[in-house]
Amino acid sequence: MQMKKAIVTGGVSGIGEASAARLRADGVEVITVDISSSADYPLNVSDSGAVDSAVAAIGHIDILINCAGVLGPIKPLVELTNDEFQKTFDVNINGIFYFCRATIPSMVDHGWGRVINIASLSGKNGTPNLAAYSASKAAVSALTKSLGKEIATTGVLVNAIAPGFISTPMNADTSDDVIDDLTSEVPMKRSGRVEEVAALVSWLASDECSFSTGAVYDISGGTATY
Ligand code: NAD
Repeated sequence: MQMKKAIVTGGVSGIGEASAARLRADGVEVITVDISSSADYPLNVSDSGAVDSAVAAIGHIDILINCAGVLGPIKPLVELTNDEFQKTFDVNINGIFYFCRATIPSMVDHGWGRVINIASLSGKNGTPNLAAYSASKAAVSALTKSLGKEIATTGVLVNAIAPGFISTPMNADTSDDVIDDLTSEVPMKRSGRVEEVAALVSWLASDECSFSTGAVYDISGGTATY
C-alpha cells in the first residue's frame, strides 16, 4: 500500500510535534508547517498566498492536521485592541480555512482524506480573559461541523479535537498556582499529555475512523461532558 502523506501545521512544538511523531510512527510521511524556521515549510498560516504556494509545492496530501494556534492576549475583553482580536482569529481560524480550501479538492478527487482541526475546551466553555481565543476556537468547531457535513459522502472526513489543559510550551509560563487551580477543576485531577492527544489524532487520521465526520472530540480528563 502507498505511504500516506500528511501536513501538520504547528508541527514543531507541543501537540503538533507529538502528532507528527505519532503519525510517523504509524508509517505516514509527515511534512511540518510552522512559523518556526525549524519546520519543513516555515510559513505563517494566516498568509493565504503562502499557504497556497506551499500546498502547490507539496502536492497531494491525504491527511491535514491543523494544529497551529496562538493563545493571544490574556486580558479583559474591554482592553483588547482591534489588532489583538484580529490576529488571534487570523491564526486560529483563518489559517485552518486557508489550509482546508487548498488541500480538500485533491483529497475529494482521490476519494479519501482526513482533516483534524485542533479546537479547544475554551471554545465550548468560554475562558475568562481569553475572549478572542475562546471565540476563535468556537469558530474552529463550527467550521469543522459545517465542512464535515458538506463533504460527508466524499470519503474525506473532517473532525475536531477540543483539548482541555495540556502541558505544552503554550502554557509554559503559567504559574504553578494557576496550574494547581486549573487541574483541581479537572475530574481526573491532572493536566493532559501531548501523547494522549496525538493518540486521538492518530485514530482520527486512520481508516479505522470511518463513521465520524463533523464531530468535536473531547479530551479534557472529564471536564467537558458534551
Ligand atoms: P505550542 O505553542 O507548543 O504549539 C503551537 C505551534 O503553532 C508552535 O509551533 C507555533 O510556532 C505554531 N504557530 C503559532 N502561530 C503560527 C502561525 N501564525 N503560523 C504557523 N505556525 C504558527 O502550543 P500547543 O499547546 O501545542 O498548541 C497546539 C494547538 O492546540 C493550538 O491550536 C492550541 O490552541 C490548541 N490547544 C492547546 C491546549 C493546551 O492546553 N496546550 C488546549 C486546547 C487547545
